Amino acid sequence: MFRWSPGADERWQEYAVDAGADTTVLDALVEIQRGQDLGLAFRYACRVGMCGSCGVVVNGRERWACRTRLSTLGSGLVTVRPLYHFPLLRDLVVDLSPFTAKMRAVGAAFAASDQNQRDARIASDSRERREIDAAIECIGCGLCVSACTMVAHNARFPGPAALNRAFTLQRDSRDAQKDARWSVLLSDDALARCHGQGNCTEVCPMGLAPARSIIRLRQMATARLLGVG
Ligand code: SF4
Repeated sequence: MFRWSPGADERWQEYAVDAGADTTVLDALVEIQRGQDLGLAFRYACRVGMCGSCGVVVNGRERWACRTRLSTLGSGLVTVRPLYHFPLLRDLVVDLSPFTAKMRAVGAAFAASDQNQRDARIASDSRERREIDAAIECIGCGLCVSACTMVAHNARFPGPAALNRAFTLQRDSRDAQKDARWSVLLSDDALARCHGQGNCTEVCPMGLAPARSIIRLRQMATARLLGVG
């Protein structure tokens, strides 16, 4: 287990827990904190894969601790460390405020084009609705950001979650902020920087595909530049 607190050196500490077939990494963390090490810091809330707050890196891969059974991780030592690319607060707890900042930077809030229209709808059987639906269920856990090597390389790159969110809005015919958003997305450090490796899509526990949303944004941007979109 990765341990660090302000003013101390980073270290790895081993713990042993009794595990049944359904014991999760989160169960083990709680047991360790209650019975072995009161000072161990980690974050969780719902315990059932709804809130996304227990994201950590387990055996080298980003996962939700509450949805990861120890029995699926083999018989060897299990390593648990905090998410990458976020400021570390203590032990397994990171500061997720850069996630929010990147969302803001791409204009992640919906802006209604017609303030007077009460019920603006996108038909449920339209292609627009289907494409947005496939990308809309992000709960902001940050796993994809931790898995993205471009985030590590370029601090100005918005990252997969923010670009995925931007796609849902650029695709939304009701939104009025598209031009402002395009100016961010087409800047040097946004869409052009994604290398398409797809780590984000691989780790997303919600089954979203931020890499696909980025490809769709590029297609839409190209169509717009050619005057056909
Ligand atoms: S896209 Fe998936 S992995 Fe990324 S923040 Fe949203 S839910 Fe988490």
